[in-house]
Amino acid sequence: MNEYDSAVIKEMLKENGFVYTNSPDAANIVIVNGCVVREKPEKKEFELLKYYKKRGKFVVSAGCLAQKDKEALLEFSDLVVGPMEYDNLPEIIKRRGVFTDYNKERDKFYEYARKRDEVGFSEYVTIMTGCDNFCTYCVVPFTRGREKSRPPWDIIDEVKGLIAKGTKEITLIGQNVNSYFYEGVDFKDLLQMISKLNVKRIRFTTSHPRDISLAVFDIMAKKDNIMPHIHLPVQTGSNKLLKEMRRGYTREEYIYIVDAARKIIPDIVISADIMVGYPTETEEDFLSTLDLVKRVQFDYAYMFIYSPRKPSIAYYRYKEQLPKEVAVRRHRRLVETVQQIVIKKRKDMIGKTYEVMIDGHAKKNEGLSRGKTRGNITVVVEKHIPEGEFIKVKITHVNGATPIGKPIKT
Ligand code: SF4
Repeated sequence: MNEYDSAVIKEMLKENGFVYTNSPDAANIVIVNGCVVREKPEKKEFELLKYYKKRGKFVVSAGCLAQKDKEALLEFSDLVVGPMEYDNLPEIIKRRGVFTDYNKERDKFYEYARKRDEVGFSEYVTIMTGCDNFCTYCVVPFTRGREKSRPPWDIIDEVKGLIAKGTKEITLIGQNVNSYFYEGVDFKDLLQMISKLNVKRIRFTTSHPRDISLAVFDIMAKKDNIMPHIHLPVQTGSNKLLKEMRRGYTREEYIYIVDAARKIIPDIVISADIMVGYPTETEEDFLSTLDLVKRVQFDYAYMFIYSPRKPSIAYYRYKEQLPKEVAVRRHRRLVETVQQIVIKKRKDMIGKTYEVMIDGHAKKNEGLSRGKTRGNITVVVEKHIPEGEFIKVKITHVNGATPIGKPIKT
């Protein structure tokens, strides 16, 4: 979401007479649009702010970072501006102070989002912001505020504009896209409306296991331009922890959704966020997570060690944390378990053909291309192909967990 916000901020400031440069060292004003979901990026953002402040830049702290740490940030920034204050950014950017009211609308912001002219073949479009869930470990409801859905006609206008400018893949984003609701239009309705536009690939993230309806899978199965991938964070396989975290579902319900998704869309790719080291996680809880991972057979997963984030509920609730070595050991074991499943799944791709949209070159070899399957699996293609092109690729082998293939003529 910060990536999308940054693109719109760029457009907004450009339209208001500011000149963009790729090099922060050459700029007079530096905006750090920071994420605070994890501890590591947050530390990096503070370092960046200090670095540019020392060099005499006018430093703007933006995003969730600004919303969360307003007071602390003033020491390193001239302006602190939360995500719901972006409508006024061109006016307030030369002032100093804190602007972090999160009860505002983002009408002007979305107006600039629709005007964006520098667009790529793959773009994000925000459909809702904020979250009402208050999972105990999470700061999003405190930094992005309560859920606000954007009018469907406004979203459709932005998508149509992007398609006209050459975008081929749209990812609908929101903290909890499944709870999208605007004047009788829910997420499945919105998805259906967007699928009627001339867009080649539609993705969406992030989904919530409690809020997703099976009707979404029915629409995905029917519409060829909605990609067969769902990112469905599970966090833990322990019912005790799911309850403590206020996630609103059980492991049995999670498994039911996954099984239903695979029944409706047999080639669906399922990914998740998984956390270890929650303060009250016992060995038994952790083993439940490993067990769930083996049962679900995720296609890929983002795995994290819990870190206390102020002002989350868990930050205040638990005085004691798990010993670091216990959390690190569990994380390693989880990564190994997921990795084994992923490698097996990638090997299963050998000999099969996939439609791939090229999005760059391979990390270690600029002569080879890299792209994503419809299911969002990154593959390397043994040929140089321009970005944004669609090709059919037959997977010939895997390198670690990366499938490698050759383009085939259709
Ligand atoms: S659903 Fe939970 S984890 Fe996700 S953004 Fe909302 S509070 Fe955070």
